[in-house]
Amino acid sequence: TLAIETRDLSKTYRLGFWMNKRVLALQGLTLNIQPGQVYGLLGPNGAGKSTTIKILMNLVQATSGSAAIFGHAPDSKEARRNVGFLPENPAPYEYLTGEEFVRLAGQLVGLSGQELDRRVKEVLGAVGMSRTAGLQIRRYSKGMVQRIGLAQAIVGQPKLLVLDEPTSGLDPVGRREIRDLILQERERGTTVLFCTHIIPDVEALCNRVAVLVNGRLAREGSVQELLTTQ
Ligand code: ADP
Ligand code: ADP
Repeated sequence: TLAIETRDLSKTYRLGFWMNKRVLALQGLTLNIQPGQVYGLLGPNGAGKSTTIKILMNLVQATSGSAAIFGHAPDSKEARRNVGFLPENPAPYEYLTGEEFVRLAGQLVGLSGQELDRRVKEVLGAVGMSRTAGLQIRRYSKGMVQRIGLAQAIVGQPKLLVLDEPTSGLDPVGRREIRDLILQERERGTTVLFCTHIIPDVEALCNRVAVLVNGRLAREGSVQELLTTQ
């Protein structure tokens, strides 16, 4: 089965007091993402990248079409259990410590007891935050927030990792750290879907890319195909 499959996915947002304004955020998007791929979602602002991710994460309801994660609907327990998610602003719980945030995420995916303790410790080490995990998230730099965000996404060892602009706003060192962590996940065989504006990230990480423009698939292919032609 495919890691991610969307069929003719469309999303219309309705706006205004009378709900009379419409934004066609997605218009018939079909994507097939094989397990083990690191898949980049590219395109200008407003192209529909976040909307695609939000539909897959069951945060937004598609207007028509379908989406599946390992063959399961986005709102199913099976889909949720297999996915780790790093939203664009990963730390709304700024008064939690980094460790509490990761622990909470682990509990939400069903870890408990010694296994939870072990995994929390393991991922905090993996993102280089063993020593700073006791601080409240509001004290973290942007790079630390992204690293703790990645830690909470991978704590349950998901088969699919979905990342919304994981390196945006980071300096070159922070970007490098996040890239290395994503590469580690790739080596482990995790499927990764992420949206980005940063071409060097795409070159360093992705097997395949899709370019969205105005809610439609403008191009799709291997990184070599897309970065060498035109
Ligand atoms: P991208 O992530 O590629 O920048 P988005 O999926 O965020 O694109 O947005 C696609 C279009 O949908 C844009 O025109 C955006 O303004 C609009 N949009 C996104 N979210 C909402 C929302 N909650 N309500 C209304 N319009 C929205
Ligand atoms: P991105 O495109 O990177 O997701 P945006 O700045 O477009 O970021 O959107 C930020 C938030 O505002 C998102 O949650 C999005 O759903 C919402 N949003 C975007 N455009 C609109 C809009 N026209 N009306 C209402 N909400 C919107």
